[in-house]
Amino acid sequence: MATDAAYAELTGRLKRTQLLGSVADLLGWDEQVNLPADSADQRGAQQSALAEVVHAGASDPRVGELLVQLEKTADTLDADQRVVIAWARRDYDRATKLPAEFVREKAEQGSRGYHAWVKARASADFASYAPVLEKNLELAKREAAYLGRGDAAYDYMIDRHDPGMTAATVERLFSELKGELVALTRQIGASPIKPPQGLLKGFPVGEQKAFLKEVTERLGFNYRRGRIDVSVHPFCSGTGADIRMTTRFDADNPLDSLFSSIHETGHGLYEQGLPLDQHHTALGQAVGMGVHESQSRLWENQVSRSRAFWKYFEPKLRASFPAQLSSISSEELYLAINAVEPTLIRTDADEVTYNLHIILRFEIEKKLFTGALAVRDLPQAWNAASKELLGLVPETDRDGVLQDIHWSDGAFGYFPSYCIGNMMAAQLWYRALSLRPLLEEDFARGDFSWLLDWLRKTIHTQGKRFPTLALVEHATGESLSPKYLLRYLRERYLPLYSKS
Ligand code: ZN
Repeated sequence: MATDAAYAELTGRLKRTQLLGSVADLLGWDEQVNLPADSADQRGAQQSALAEVVHAGASDPRVGELLVQLEKTADTLDADQRVVIAWARRDYDRATKLPAEFVREKAEQGSRGYHAWVKARASADFASYAPVLEKNLELAKREAAYLGRGDAAYDYMIDRHDPGMTAATVERLFSELKGELVALTRQIGASPIKPPQGLLKGFPVGEQKAFLKEVTERLGFNYRRGRIDVSVHPFCSGTGADIRMTTRFDADNPLDSLFSSIHETGHGLYEQGLPLDQHHTALGQAVGMGVHESQSRLWENQVSRSRAFWKYFEPKLRASFPAQLSSISSEELYLAINAVEPTLIRTDADEVTYNLHIILRFEIEKKLFTGALAVRDLPQAWNAASKELLGLVPETDRDGVLQDIHWSDGAFGYFPSYCIGNMMAAQLWYRALSLRPLLEEDFARGDFSWLLDWLRKTIHTQGKRFPTLALVEHATGESLSPKYLLRYLRERYLPLYSKS
């Protein structure tokens, strides 16, 4: 078979698998947005039937044959085609190297783990949860071994979320970040200026919806290829052909729905910028979690918490909510938007201290995988790290080691992506500013198009051509460094918290 024909057959098969996978995504979105309460069983059955079809396509031996042939003739393929083949190989190996028995065991354990976590968390009973974590760790190590990474299981878990990254790389970046970030947090914490509590009240949901639609559209989200609905936890799913974002509303906390919508919009803009005709290959797919988070965080934080952004949007916000904002000054509003206050709970954290929550989890995961920390000693280790990093010790494990869902499902190596995304966002931000010094003046006029165009060109249209760190270098001309995140946090927050 000629190489061209083999390549065409392979990508045809990838396309079918990708389309079926996108149907599964849509069912998942519908489940969280629309599904009637008593219809969950049928949805579960639909999802598992579809998952079988998707898996059969992804693991079809014919795909393996085509890959072998194309790998032999790789020198006749162009660079883009080689990227497609390399990623198709990675996906095929993952679909075929895990024994069906193991996949079933992992799925069952995931569901058991979730319920055990909910129960343990409600009663702050870590001891009942410890066996679940031990089992999940064992499964993670076995999974790595099946994929030929048994000697470096934690690296394997990290690489699954951020291709090409290792625990050693993350360790180096986080250790450079940690000391200065703790010092910065203490400095802000010692300031007599405190973010206002409960400042914004009585914002009708209808007007909030209209305002956030205006904001996200202005940032560049294309509502002809996407929509935003309501769910318990905000998320962004779908492909650039049809993006489904969600948010949630609270009349007394309008900034939560606004900023979570902008965050999801950042994810959506990335997906909408991936090449539409390549969604089924690596050329039209997002690189990984860290890069995805860099896009959501850049729009959420660097852009939308800036004075320039609010110079344009504050008058519009006041026009939408004149009575609610009448006694609130611009400076109070800006401080509420940029509130920094250490908290025990990661999901409530501001953008300064959030990174400390991630460093804490990374250090613990790494020790769990090397065996330097036993699961039974986790609460103690957690509380000690919480004191060191955040200056806070949880009263019970409910607000400590039991707060996150991730480990209950064996999702190790996932947390670092959030902080990698924050570092990358800041580095992209300063690169963009160096290329366009007038960027914030654009924002003040409500023009975000230069930034979006630049991200489209350097990040979005690249698909998976570059693994995480190489993409940062491609976009910024430098390797990933935490110094930009530190610089950004200092420039934004120290003036705000050190005025007399
Ligand atoms: Zn996100």
